[in-house]
Amino acid sequence: MYEDRVEAMAQMHIATGLAKIGLFLRAHTWRQADAAALSPTQAQILAHLTQRGPARITGLAEALGVTQPTASDAAAALIRKGHVTKHPDPQDARASLLYPTVEGERAAAETAVWPDALLGAIDTLGADERAVFLKALVKMIRELQVRGAIPVQRMCATCRFFQPNVHDDPATPHHCAFVNAAFGDASLRLDCGEHEPVGKTEADADALWGRFLDAPAGQPDAPPAATGEAS
Ligand code: SF4
Repeated sequence: MYEDRVEAMAQMHIATGLAKIGLFLRAHTWRQADAAALSPTQAQILAHLTQRGPARITGLAEALGVTQPTASDAAAALIRKGHVTKHPDPQDARASLLYPTVEGERAAAETAVWPDALLGAIDTLGADERAVFLKALVKMIRELQVRGAIPVQRMCATCRFFQPNVHDDPATPHHCAFVNAAFGDASLRLDCGEHEPVGKTEADADALWGRFLDAPAGQPDAPPAATGEAS
């Protein structure tokens, strides 16, 4: 009973901490978008198109976790502002793809800067703390994904190139087959441009996840040389 209460309190404290960081990031995103004369959704669409390439409205809505009308309205505003153009999808003539213009890419670069305060706060963590923190984030993000609360993320733990816990060196136990390099928990990717989903079934994903959880806590390491990732 006492243990249950302690556990519930710990959950609440972590949720409160995440909410405070989320509040700070949301305020920063609003300020950055406002300075570029964009709404936060417009800024997110521009960032997505710039980092991941052309997309349909439906894909954007899904990736950003907004409704289709919201994505559609924001995209229409971006077209009016000259940040985005729309062209037929070569895969399906009935559908359209949105592309960022040069002005759109410039605006995306202006709004995609992480706040110094956040980077400074991360800098206060030691290498071991960063590795443990990043692994905990991966676990939470995957659980949110499994529960359908967020879209599928392009992270190592769900990637077909990820080979967890295959090396003896505790500092770099994992392997990325895409760049053919060993790495540790401190270099786990949360949004990698080279990510490809593992297997076709839930069992494939669960098997990879199980092998990842078998790995011991990570150590500081050098990142794999790599990738077109956003983070
Ligand atoms: S670094 Fe990218 S390509 Fe390599 S395992 Fe991670 S997500 Fe996959």
